[in-house]
Amino acid sequence: MTDEERKEWWCPKCRDEIDGSHVTFDEVHEVCGYRVLDYNPDAELKRLREAVDALQVNLRIFIHAHETGNSVPIFVVKDAEECCRRAKEG
Ligand SMILES: [Zn+2]
Repeated sequence: MTDEERKEWWCPKCRDEIDGSHVTFDEVHEVCGYRVLDYNPDAELKRLREAVDALQVNLRIFIHAHETGNSVPIFVVKDAEECCRRAKEG
């Protein structure tokens, strides 16, 4: 099996991942006739939301560290609350 055959497709009509063996040469889902996408928009959206959430957490920690003069490394704490707790503990 080549990499091209193993490629995952996404059908917007069936809202499902489609195996390459059910996709025609014209990139159409042979079951429903809809054009497939080469990525899953739902998974992509979820990934982006998680990335935004992580950025917001890091931003809160950064702002907190700036306001308190705290030098807690941002990669050590998971969220601003933990950052506050550590700051109080000294
Ligand atoms: Zn389909």
